[in-house]
Amino acid sequence: MARAQQGQLATRAKAFRSRSGYHWYKRITMIATQQASFGPCRFCGQTLRKTFVDLGMSPLCESYVPPERLDAMEPFYPLNVLVCDNCLLVQLREYVLAEEIYSEYAYFSSYSDSWLDHARRYVEMAMGRFQLGPQSLVVEVASNDGYLLQYFLAQGIPVLGIEPAANVARVAQQKGIRTLVKFFGRQTAAELAAGGTRADLLVGNNVLAHVPDLNGFVAGLKGLLAPGGTITMEFPHLVRLVEGNQFDTIYHEHFSYLSLLVTERIFVAHGLTIFDVEELGTHGGSLRIYARHAEESDRPVLASVEELRRRETEAGYRRIETYLGFAERVAETKRKLLEFLIAARRQDKRIAGYGAPGKGNTLLNYCGIRTDFLDYTVDRNPYKQGQFLPGTHIPIFPPERLAQTRPDYILILPWNLKDEIIAQLAYARDWGARFVVPIPEVKVYP
Ligand SMILES: [Zn+2]
Repeated sequence: MARAQQGQLATRAKAFRSRSGYHWYKRITMIATQQASFGPCRFCGQTLRKTFVDLGMSPLCESYVPPERLDAMEPFYPLNVLVCDNCLLVQLREYVLAEEIYSEYAYFSSYSDSWLDHARRYVEMAMGRFQLGPQSLVVEVASNDGYLLQYFLAQGIPVLGIEPAANVARVAQQKGIRTLVKFFGRQTAAELAAGGTRADLLVGNNVLAHVPDLNGFVAGLKGLLAPGGTITMEFPHLVRLVEGNQFDTIYHEHFSYLSLLVTERIFVAHGLTIFDVEELGTHGGSLRIYARHAEESDRPVLASVEELRRRETEAGYRRIETYLGFAERVAETKRKLLEFLIAARRQDKRIAGYGAPGKGNTLLNYCGIRTDFLDYTVDRNPYKQGQFLPGTHIPIFPPERLAQTRPDYILILPWNLKDEIIAQLAYARDWGARFVVPIPEVKVYP
């Protein structure tokens, strides 16, 4: 801040102090200091100064609103994503404590058929590749409702789930899956290891990017991994987010946005080596990394790692400039989606949503889409039916509502599952409905 500006602010503050008391003075100096920095980087500790994309204020994307709370106040928090100009980790500050988000959670993995298929195929692969048997232990961090561990259990492999959301963990326990209701980190890992628990296979799907204490989490992985054991982690790939314009995968629970380059840096810092990587189609494009203890150098690093590292480097992910061009592309996507919706409503077309996923809520709140565009949305998850979307208050119905009201357009909010959903909704073609996908940019399917 320029010195002249600071002086001006001080004069104004003084005037306020005499007029409105100390309260106003304090408030103005607070605003002045807040603009100076965005706090320390989650990984390297350097002061954050650069914005990757700012989606404005948004409610927590899984805080569905029950009818009796429609008139109550709803907290909104910033969705200002930053990039560290030292280590290039793209990140969201912890505006909301993870404890507050995850104590009760509306996301049950088993409601998606394609995600269950994905889990089943993973288990088949892991059984062969890691020679698991009745003496092994498979631990999954953020094990949700047991959607994955159930398949290991069916093969006679001992399992342990670790899941902080009690309501979700209870469903797993009812299926006979041993589940610890806890947050995972350095301390939980140390407690388990002290009791003799070590993981031969340590799995985490969509959790690495969702922990605020990234260093504590990865240190915990190191602490819980048995000698000769393997870690596999899946998380959305930052490169796919940028290239596919997937800004709606940004929400308060999603603290880090990871490239292979930055993930390797973090793992190396905690004594772990990434020895294989796969690119997956899940969640719009994810990475599955395979890691081991750094000291087990007899297990070679495969060519896949060097190959992806080279591609990320060539695409510019070692330079800050690559990250700074994203925000304008996001704004243009918003304008295009609104143009489509405005034109459709002007022609008196009815539009309904399909799905009530977290990503839908980021999209709808950022674009300002409420019941003025979308009459309602539907979801297969009974937990969400009868409630309203956070912020936009669009009502959520069971899928049968579509056939009853026959909308002209169905906006598919979980666009990553669009093929599965369009196949499920083939009957909507009978009344001439067409499907709309908002990302990477608005597109209509017959
Ligand atoms: Zn950093």
